[in-house]
Amino acid sequence: MITIELLKEEIASIIRNYNSKGWSPATSTNYSFKFENSEIFVSKSGIDKSQFSADDFMTIDENGKGTGDFLTSKPSAETLIHCVLYELFPETKVILHSHSVYPVLISQTHENSVEFEGYEIQKGFDGQTTHEATVEIPIFNNTQDMIEFSKILKENKDRISNHTFIMRKHGTYAWGKNLFEAKRHLETLEYLCQCKYMSKVD
Ligand SMILES: [Zn+2]
Repeated sequence: MITIELLKEEIASIIRNYNSKGWSPATSTNYSFKFENSEIFVSKSGIDKSQFSADDFMTIDENGKGTGDFLTSKPSAETLIHCVLYELFPETKVILHSHSVYPVLISQTHENSVEFEGYEIQKGFDGQTTHEATVEIPIFNNTQDMIEFSKILKENKDRISNHTFIMRKHGTYAWGKNLFEAKRHLETLEYLCQCKYMSKVD
């Protein structure tokens, strides 16, 4: 039986691992989880992700404001995105965000979405069963206006069918019913973006 403290440790370890891959430079990115049906835990703002620890999560309400011991703490600027994803996809328990390079490069040459077909690893997205399918991942323009971005996510819910999306020249979000699944979705998209960019095939 996993405890809340163990889950914090596991996610913190993955955050440090992703940092070592260059996916969260300069204190960027944010992460969250829900333990069973509890409140949302989100990464605090401004932490060097190579040093991220289990103590660097804070609780928030459904509007992204700090709760309990964290009423005056500052959550990440993108916290509202996490709140909206939990609302739109109620099965979600873990959300991961990356500022890795390949999705950013892909977003510079694709308009509203990027398609992948023929890759075995497409099956890493829950619901995909064969490499013969075409997988479409939406790309949304970056913005500092999180209320506006939340609206765009809600309007485009039906297009977000593979548990992940790209923010243009910014990064990726991926989520899942548990940490294992969220991690698989994020890493699947990272791999696909790298293949597509390096092969220079649209
Ligand atoms: Zn970001």
